[in-house]
Amino acid sequence: MTDQSLQNFDIRTFQEQMLQWYDDNKRDLPWRQTKDPYKIWVSEVMLQQTQVNTVIPYFERFMRKFPTVYHLAEADEQTVLKKWEGLGYYSRARNLHEAAREVVAIYGGQVPEEPKQLATLKGVGPYTKGAILSIAFNQPEPAVDGNVMRVYSRLLKIEEDITKYRVKKQFEETVRQTIPAHNPRDFNQSIMELGALICTPREPMCLLCPVQQHCKAFAAGIERDLPIKKKNKKQKVIPYVALLIQNDQGDFIIEQRPASGLLANMWQFPMVPIEEIGRDHLENWLYGEYGLHISLKEERGKLRHVFTHLIWEITVFTAETTDTAPLDKRLRIVQPSELETFPFPVSHLNMMKFLQEF
Ligand code: SF4
Repeated sequence: MTDQSLQNFDIRTFQEQMLQWYDDNKRDLPWRQTKDPYKIWVSEVMLQQTQVNTVIPYFERFMRKFPTVYHLAEADEQTVLKKWEGLGYYSRARNLHEAAREVVAIYGGQVPEEPKQLATLKGVGPYTKGAILSIAFNQPEPAVDGNVMRVYSRLLKIEEDITKYRVKKQFEETVRQTIPAHNPRDFNQSIMELGALICTPREPMCLLCPVQQHCKAFAAGIERDLPIKKKNKKQKVIPYVALLIQNDQGDFIIEQRPASGLLANMWQFPMVPIEEIGRDHLENWLYGEYGLHISLKEERGKLRHVFTHLIWEITVFTAETTDTAPLDKRLRIVQPSELETFPFPVSHLNMMKFLQEF
């Protein structure tokens, strides 16, 4: 693919057109006002799987709280998760935090600009590495994500499945050959920007595209058919019962999730995989699992939360307990006003609306 796909492709004109278009059209985003590698790194991690408009307020709050890599390295994990609360994919925050500690401990607080060193940091994969190296350090490194693969698959009419590792690696090599040595920083961002504003997934605006003259998919009238992406396997649906448990002093019981796996170390209202346990055994299971005595009150509503590979279907119940002392070490008894100090995933933040009805 690499050699043939660039045949008859006027790389130099393409580069010039992209850089000019970027100069004229780039959005004024907070992370574009800096070349600080730490800030660019944070922004790139936040932007993975997340819309720009969602990221902006998170980025600004995060920077106020952790303005340098030292501030982030010194913070405790719960504070970092709290600042990430609602943004999803929390392993990104945990990896970033751990990597910030590595940068301070190993590299004296300087984000490494040597590709091999940068790649060893926790959570820094090929895309993030390429984005930091090109945007912060102006190095001619490709930063290839789904957005960039969409643009290149159309431009070069590459009809291969972009979910395959081998194909992604080939894209990286192809993109690498098109990066201008004099301005990798703006060039890589111009491709990302084209993918975000013009060469969008469903309705690419080819008539406004600055590089339409080079686009092989447009010429063939198949731009909407690319990229080719193998469909995700159907997500597994898991029914849960979540419990808003209050004791007679009005305190709530919350639970910390395990230290590894999905939403690791986040907090939630106790949640029971109800199909596995069975509705009739719910109280007994809670006693066996946590030493917690409850009596179930009423159903308050249902919520659905979609992850990449699974879906939680949650039925929310209120419940009472007579327990007032700390129970299992995963559980905490907290006053309603304290709930907001713990990092909760979105599904459980949404559940809090039921608390207002208490
Ligand atoms: Fe994308 Fe259309 Fe431009 Fe081709 S012409 S790169 S499909 S926007």
